Amino acid sequence: MESTRYDFIIIGAGVAGLTAAQYGARSNLKTLVLENVSSGGQALNIMHLENYPGLYPGIPGSEFIGKMEAQAKDFGAVMQKTQVLSVDKVGPLFTVKTADQTFSSEALLLATGAYPRKLGIPGEDTFAGRGVSYCATCDGPFFRNKRVVVVGGGDSACDEATYLSTLAAEVTLVHRRAQLRAQKAVAERVLRNPKITVRFNTVVKEIRGTQAVESLLLEDTGTGLTSEAAADGVFIFAGSVPRTELVPVLPHDDGGFILTDDRMATPIPGLFCAGDVRSKQFRQVVTAAAEGALAAHSAEKYVRDARSEAYR
Ligand code: NAP
Repeated sequence: MESTRYDFIIIGAGVAGLTAAQYGARSNLKTLVLENVSSGGQALNIMHLENYPGLYPGIPGSEFIGKMEAQAKDFGAVMQKTQVLSVDKVGPLFTVKTADQTFSSEALLLATGAYPRKLGIPGEDTFAGRGVSYCATCDGPFFRNKRVVVVGGGDSACDEATYLSTLAAEVTLVHRRAQLRAQKAVAERVLRNPKITVRFNTVVKEIRGTQAVESLLLEDTGTGLTSEAAADGVFIFAGSVPRTELVPVLPHDDGGFILTDDRMATPIPGLFCAGDVRSKQFRQVVTAAAEGALAAHSAEKYVRDARSEAYR
């Protein structure tokens, strides 16, 4: 199968990928973005993006992504909705295969993001979509005036608990430690919310029900005592797992997130990595955007350098 040639291929159209697309296209790289679902990644789940610099008083994540996609396309990036099946490098070129097409490029950006980590407890898979959710923005409206439990102590759990408190009759946030790990302002919003009860040092052992979620079996991590809490829904925000299966050989941290240098470069020449799939301290829309811009800049330099060497 003959391949369609690009200078720069980006896998993943989240914030990092779309930023890289815009920067890549603007620097005159023939740029292709491949994404198997809708553009936006996890930013689509942001009800109200309130901390992106200059975007004040903030906009919905979906609107933000719509603007990013339009900006990347207007600068010349090509967007294609398709699932990438494999990535290889033969000589100076990457080969990217989908079910019916093959693409090649000198530079490649892995911006494949991450997906929600499961708790791995009984009932979690059984009641997925029937009370178990990993996205409050998507499923919150089904729990209007109902009782929901939110699991986790990070920014996602706190933000989503705050959002759910505007819909649900009561929200219980269950966290395995004695304090929240979320940013101070985000955590304080939860602790001050009269509709949210926080149960520290508590884990969910089982999700129970018949047709849908009816209760949770909770365990106090200090005493080991268990109790059953009635709930119509449980929203799980236990961190995320990076999507790295296309290039499994790359160095990664303990969580499986890919290690790069500060130019977003991996040890494979021409292969860059940005966004939630990358190892880092602070996962924000603004850091994903910055990494996308840096990756595109590095890709452009890589392509130009490789070509000038080739013609020497
Ligand atoms: P996170 O910071 O990794 O937090 C995950 C939470 O889940 C932690 O509290 C962790 O507990 C808990 N957890 C993990 N495995 C668990 C298990 N098996 N059972 C029970 N609890 C478990 O993930 P996140 O909240 O999704 O945030 C990810 C990144 O996105 C962060 O960098 C965050 O700052 C960023 N983010 C930012 C915003 C914002 O700026 N508004 C919003 C959302 C996300 P421990 O605390 O004990 O580890």
